[in-house]
Amino acid sequence: MKGKVSLKAVCSALAAAVFSLTLIAPCAAEVTQDDLDDLDRQIREQEEVIAGIEDKTASNQEYLDALQKDLSLAEEKLQRTLDSIGELNDQIGQTEDEIAQQQEKIDSTYAQLAARLRSMYMNSQASPLAMLFSAKDYSTFLMSMELVSRTSAYDSKMIREYKDLIDEQNRQKAELDAQKSALETQRAQEQQEQQDMETKVSRQKELLAQLDADSQEAIAIQQQLEDQMDAYEEQIRQQAASGSHGDGKPSEEESGGETGGETGGESGNTDIEGADFAWPLMDVAYGSGAYISSDYGPRTDPYTGFHKGLDITCGGAQGKRICAARGGTVIVAAYGWNGGYGNYIIIDHGDGLSTLYAHCESLSVSVGEQVSRGQFIANVGNTGNSFGPHCHFEVRINGDHTNPRPYLSAYLG
Ligand SMILES: [Zn+2]
Repeated sequence: MKGKVSLKAVCSALAAAVFSLTLIAPCAAEVTQDDLDDLDRQIREQEEVIAGIEDKTASNQEYLDALQKDLSLAEEKLQRTLDSIGELNDQIGQTEDEIAQQQEKIDSTYAQLAARLRSMYMNSQASPLAMLFSAKDYSTFLMSMELVSRTSAYDSKMIREYKDLIDEQNRQKAELDAQKSALETQRAQEQQEQQDMETKVSRQKELLAQLDADSQEAIAIQQQLEDQMDAYEEQIRQQAASGSHGDGKPSEEESGGETGGETGGESGNTDIEGADFAWPLMDVAYGSGAYISSDYGPRTDPYTGFHKGLDITCGGAQGKRICAARGGTVIVAAYGWNGGYGNYIIIDHGDGLSTLYAHCESLSVSVGEQVSRGQFIANVGNTGNSFGPHCHFEVRINGDHTNPRPYLSAYLG
């Protein structure tokens, strides 16, 4: 049977795609509502995982921004310290130059004095130095001393002055050196702080990269789960159809890709049109509160594409009861996004006819369940691609959507 073959193909493709996941149902078995519920639970959990990663990423990015701000402040501070050290080095250099100049003057003055004393000693027995060394008594010695010192007084005075200057400049230089050494200590500290901060920034960047990788992985898992959900739903449709309805291909609401192209096949099943359909909004009659908020057919903004059903709603629609339009078998009862349908139900009525109820708040029937015409199946909600609580009601013939109006003509006129 054609249906069985493609089912197997779906299964093996599925097994390959989700091999790394904890699978809930072996592929050989029929897909049950429990499988769908379990998978839907996994999808919700995965959504939480993704949201958690997004939260972490946001707070860590915030921390990184703050760190980078601190780092640039630290860099500015260090630069100012380095500038101050540069200025001090200039001042120290200048002082050293001045000290060297004074030293040169001392050296040359001393050389002159030495030369003069030497020439006095060598040229004359009467020189003050000779007298000094040949002094016979203390008073002569003192006299000689006086002469020597007078001769050298000028030079000595100059040397003393130069010496004083050098002392002063050395004192200044020592002060500058002390300042410089304090600044060097500060610079070392600031460089250490900056390095620590750079380490923190790079660690933070690594953490964010890891979070990004985690996020991509989680999204990939989510995608696999959703693909599996799609495959399950397809499998359920095929199980229910058992090959008699051909391949009832899923056609999703508001998918945007079918602008006007599909007219939904004006059904050949005119014999069942209008026949015994119950009004889906079981507690609120059409015209007495219930109305059609969006008709079947091509739509324009804010929607795009072809609207595959009727949107039925009323004031305070949220939670109102939805019933099966006709008796049949539930072939889809799924929670989740479901391509925009949100929580939705498909009931197979036989003869290729099925009805769909989307955006439900909660579902009250399970796949495989037999339902009768007018039986409560779900509550009106706002799930999936919906902008306000309503029941999106579709009629399908062999899996293709058709205008539901003729089927509800008893109510809509
Ligand atoms: Zn709709």
